Amino acid sequence: MASWNGASASELRRIAETWLAKFNEALRERDYTRVSSMVHADGYWRDLLTFGWNFRNLHGVDNIREWLAEAFELNAADDFRLESEPTIGAIGEHDRTLEFFFTFDTGIAGGRGHARLVAISNSPDGLKAFTILTAVMELKKYPQATARNRARDDLRVVSRELENWRDRRNKARQFKDKDPEVVIIGGGQSGLMLAARLGQLNVSTLVVERTERVGDVWRNRYHSLQLHNEICMNHFAYLPFPDTWPVYIPKDKLADWLEFYAETMELNVWTKTLFLSGEYSNLAKRWTVRLRLADGSTRTMQPGHVVLAVGVSGLPSIPDFEGKDDFGGKIVHSSGNTDDLNVRDKSVLVVGAGTSGHDIAQHLHWRGANVTMLQRSSITVVSLEPSSVRPYELYRQNDGIRPITDTDLIAASVPYPLLARLHRPLSRKMAEDDKDLLDGLRKIGFLIDNGEDDTGYFLKLLRYQAGYYLNIGASELLIEGKIKLKVAVEIKRLEARRVIFSDGSALEADIIVLATGYKPLQEGVRAMFGDEVADRVGPIWGIGDDGELNNMYARTAQEGFYVAGGGIPGARAYSHYTALLIKAALEGLISSRPSTPHTEQKNAPAPVTLTELHYA
Ligand SMILES: Cc1cc2nc3c(=O)[nH]c(=O)nc-3n(C[C@H](O)[C@H](O)[C@H](O)COP(=O)(O)OP(=O)(O)OC[C@H]3O[C@@H](n4cnc5c(N)ncnc54)[C@H](O)[C@@H]3O)c2cc1C
Repeated sequence: MASWNGASASELRRIAETWLAKFNEALRERDYTRVSSMVHADGYWRDLLTFGWNFRNLHGVDNIREWLAEAFELNAADDFRLESEPTIGAIGEHDRTLEFFFTFDTGIAGGRGHARLVAISNSPDGLKAFTILTAVMELKKYPQATARNRARDDLRVVSRELENWRDRRNKARQFKDKDPEVVIIGGGQSGLMLAARLGQLNVSTLVVERTERVGDVWRNRYHSLQLHNEICMNHFAYLPFPDTWPVYIPKDKLADWLEFYAETMELNVWTKTLFLSGEYSNLAKRWTVRLRLADGSTRTMQPGHVVLAVGVSGLPSIPDFEGKDDFGGKIVHSSGNTDDLNVRDKSVLVVGAGTSGHDIAQHLHWRGANVTMLQRSSITVVSLEPSSVRPYELYRQNDGIRPITDTDLIAASVPYPLLARLHRPLSRKMAEDDKDLLDGLRKIGFLIDNGEDDTGYFLKLLRYQAGYYLNIGASELLIEGKIKLKVAVEIKRLEARRVIFSDGSALEADIIVLATGYKPLQEGVRAMFGDEVADRVGPIWGIGDDGELNNMYARTAQEGFYVAGGGIPGARAYSHYTALLIKAALEGLISSRPSTPHTEQKNAPAPVTLTELHYA
């Protein structure tokens, strides 16, 4: 049995190199039985674009062998080499793993990977991979213009067309005589980071943003908002935040950063521009998109690719209430402006108990309102510390030590099905640590769950970005009765100044804030692109049968159509792959339509119980 207890750095390196050489040899010989036998019976392989231009994750030896036999035959890779010093880590029940990055070559692309080996007593060489990640990093013919490959102007040609950098920038962003290759709808963090990545690949890109200034999506959110997760995981692609910034970024600071990012990354953003509609021509392989510009005129463009980056959906979910027109007070959705409401001594009903519901209720309480929160169904509540930070311990430990691209790869090496397994015990541990908080909430009747499959808040965040609250103080206000609670009832009807609930009870109300979330993003697609495109694309977000997010960041069943979005970490990490997919399609390396539909893994082994999350 292999052991690396007390092994020196050079011995660890030799162990990793030897394993990788065998792995490479077996792949070169197309001996997929041998390759898969190097994987743990309960092991995972995740691939990001290398073997089929899609995101795949496979679990178990048989699935990996069958997949390789098909995918590797079409897109082979070679030259697997250790990249840097291996480290000792741990994951779940495996309390000692040997972990390392490696590089590889597919002919058209250069890739990086990450492996976690575990010691196995009954294996001849004693080592099996528990996780393998392979990911495309660059298209060899079309490298990013970054670092050593940064753009170099010839300084000696002083009279060149009498244009300086500013002139060229102004011209580029106008798109006067030429349409962009890519139109990104939405200039939030997702749209901007993807535009930055496409820019580095020399793809002409226009971002259209309906608000007045880049960053307004954050500026317009409620007054008290700060990011709920720490700065360590929120750095932007190519441009980390300064060391002087605080741990929790205030929304207006982030808003200004978005504006600065758009300028400094030389992004072409048209603000006050509304995306109206888009139709795709299968013949021309181009979209016809209509935009309403800042001056009220309409511009039609014909890009090859369109990316939807409008956030949660752009369409607030607003329930219809009987008697709505009779209500004499104000009704506002949480996406609207709640800051300008005159709330002192007013009775306010906040409908919805997600993050926005809690934050707005708390903020209104501080501003002197008498607040009642209406909770219809259960949510997951965790303390900000110690619990909410546990899932991203990896980012906390590596902040300022490793490049964030490396940390993103380590995070990506844990596919969603494995992440769900790891989060069952972890979320239970969080609930134990938060016992006092949760008991306090239960005592007042607040409905609490631990996620649909007992995986806690983090999987909810990854799947839907909804259904949880990281407590920044509203829970205590509820427990102390400073914010009142109404549970498990619906609004039956509204009267002039009263809300009548389904249990017959009533509440005097001057203002109703609907923190009722957003319509599914597929409905946003429907509104902008029509039924055919929306039905072809299908549901967006959620984890599909194949263990990957549905239609996020990857090619969709609609040619030339992609969806970007979500929290900053996902937007940063996965914009890299969306940009490569678009560049590869533009250069004729792939069709922009997915070659294989997502399929279910039929005979994946039953996962063993992993007792603890620990993947630093
Ligand atoms: C209370 C709260 C707390 C949060 N905390 C965190 C956190 O801690 N960490 C984190 O990473 N994220 C956090 N988020 C952000 C969350 O991840 C959001 O989902 C995020 O804003 C998504 O970014 P995005 O770029 O995908 O979309 P958005 O930021 O919503 O940007 C979409 C943009 O598209 C524009 N748009 C929409 N429709 C059109 C159209 N037809 N034409 C032109 N433009 C259009 C909008 O104006 C907007 O600017 C929080 C959000 C909220 C509300």
